[in-house]
Amino acid sequence: MIRTRFAPSPTGYLHIGGARTALFSWAYARKHGGTFILRIEDTDLERSTPESVEAILQGMDWLGLDYDEGPFYQMQRMARYKEVIGQMLASGHAYHCYASKEEVETMREQQRAAGLKPRYDGRWRPEPGKDLPAPPTGIAPVVRFKNPLDGSVAWNDLVKGIIEISNSELDDLVIARPDGTPTYNFCVVVDDWDMNITQVIRGDDHVNNTPRQINILKALGATLPQYAHVPMILGTDGERLSKRHGAVSVMQYLEDGYLPEALLNYLARLGWAHGDEEIFSMAQFVEWFNLEAISRSPAKFNPEKLLWINQQYLKIADNARLAELTTPFLLRDGGNLANGPALSDVVQLLKDRVNTLVELADAATIFYRYIEPSAEQLAQHLSPEAVPALTTLTNNFMLIDWKRQSIQEALKTVVADSGLKMPGIAMPLRLLVTGVTQTPSIDATLELLGRETVIGRLQKQLA
Ligand code: GLU
Repeated sequence: MIRTRFAPSPTGYLHIGGARTALFSWAYARKHGGTFILRIEDTDLERSTPESVEAILQGMDWLGLDYDEGPFYQMQRMARYKEVIGQMLASGHAYHCYASKEEVETMREQQRAAGLKPRYDGRWRPEPGKDLPAPPTGIAPVVRFKNPLDGSVAWNDLVKGIIEISNSELDDLVIARPDGTPTYNFCVVVDDWDMNITQVIRGDDHVNNTPRQINILKALGATLPQYAHVPMILGTDGERLSKRHGAVSVMQYLEDGYLPEALLNYLARLGWAHGDEEIFSMAQFVEWFNLEAISRSPAKFNPEKLLWINQQYLKIADNARLAELTTPFLLRDGGNLANGPALSDVVQLLKDRVNTLVELADAATIFYRYIEPSAEQLAQHLSPEAVPALTTLTNNFMLIDWKRQSIQEALKTVVADSGLKMPGIAMPLRLLVTGVTQTPSIDATLELLGRETVIGRLQKQLA
């Protein structure tokens, strides 16, 4: 049975990189009919916040990355970590170390000065036949893991291939602080063990932790999971992804009017590919996904590509759904839905022309809120000769069948009679009715706005 997890630290919002890791772990579990677990690694009390936990849960929910177990919280598992530390002390896989922080620092400085790689020298490490000093009184010890001294630790990383680290490179890791609280790597180990994780899929910033975690898992007699370390996401300039490269918080994309399926589709293609396929459903992704196809080099985050994908999804999205998603943006812009046509009809008219729901709402505003043209705009677009022609057009509008086709005909007739060119009439018409100079075709816009609204606005402006 496949069991994967996403284990974010709640020290900020759910960011693009975390969401991509979550997506890969989720997809792997879904593909294999396995279990996907959410684990909140909240032991860093100074940096973890409830708001961040909330943001992570919301982000997962918005993206539809559903988990089968959890969320588990490490802070709620303290008793369990302490229990395992006790077991490791009892079995001799861990020991108390009374060296103070200052002592360890001095040790390291001396090693550095001697041109050696700084590491704990094992002064409190019990060995057969070795005499340890008597524990000093009044000093609370840390607990260290007794890392093997010889040999090496190796794993076949499902993304990076075989990685081997000599044990001589690894310190005796502190697994409990003087106050008894477990350290980061230790909690991860106990959790992956207790939760029977079969594939640890995570960012490759954790590669250095893996040999230490494997050694502890081995000491516990645990079955080792497989590891897949996914390369980082960089900005288009090759630097590590940050705010400079655009929004990096998943929820910001909700705010900016992206569809979750567009963001997921884009994330799926960040460092993973299936030939040249660009637009695909999550069902399709789950079927295609495999860890071996993850690129070994960092992915580059391209906001323009994401925007393009969003546009593709807007084009094919259901009108009623888009109307629902656009409503909050419209209300924020001060639109009143009761004042205009059905939003799903407006969506149908506009959705091919916009990249985001925010743009959709902006373009839809003219149907729900009248913005009067400014004197400056009128001076620029409304010529004195156009005024009588527009008055005639207003009168004709009262008589025609209110359909695109007849609106267009009425417009053409007035243009021909006036001796002006089409834009000379259509532009001020658009401006008087909508307050803006850019809309979809004027006949379709007027049809949708409705005869009463159009005539009312024209009469007001031409009076
Ligand atoms: N909590 C870690 C992070 O947010 C992930 C740990 C793991 O996946 O093992 O980067």
